[in-house]
Amino acid sequence: MSVTAISCPHCQKTNRVPAQRLGDSPKCGSCKKPLFAGKPMPLTAANVAATLNHNDIPVLVDCWASWCGPCRSFAPVFEKAAAEFEPKLRFAKLDTEANQQVAARWQIRSIPTLILFKGGKEAARVSGALPAAQLKQWLQQQAVI
Ligand code: ZN
Repeated sequence: MSVTAISCPHCQKTNRVPAQRLGDSPKCGSCKKPLFAGKPMPLTAANVAATLNHNDIPVLVDCWASWCGPCRSFAPVFEKAAAEFEPKLRFAKLDTEANQQVAARWQIRSIPTLILFKGGKEAARVSGALPAAQLKQWLQQQAVI
């Protein structure tokens, strides 16, 4: 039986979930909150390391800022994708204004930018507010859905 490590989006504890139970609304063994809420989780300097490094599933990060119009128009597309594609991957959002050190480390040059992490390492990135169909196509190209 294969077991998948999932970092809790609420308390950052690493949970070990049997792969075939991932779709059964698993809860965190520590804080008892759902491991998947069907929506993106906010990334901060405090939880970014656990989220990227302690998840066996890929993590897709939407790097955005509140003043950015295309970011705001992309937000509902990203939310819908989270509802559709969790738990195949974890959806997270990085506010690049509130977390400038993380944004600098990732060398974000334009927003919105999507970065796909696998095993804690950047696997792919794409910039611009993708329409839902294009986002899905891109995720299929990355073989994560
Ligand atoms: Zn938890």
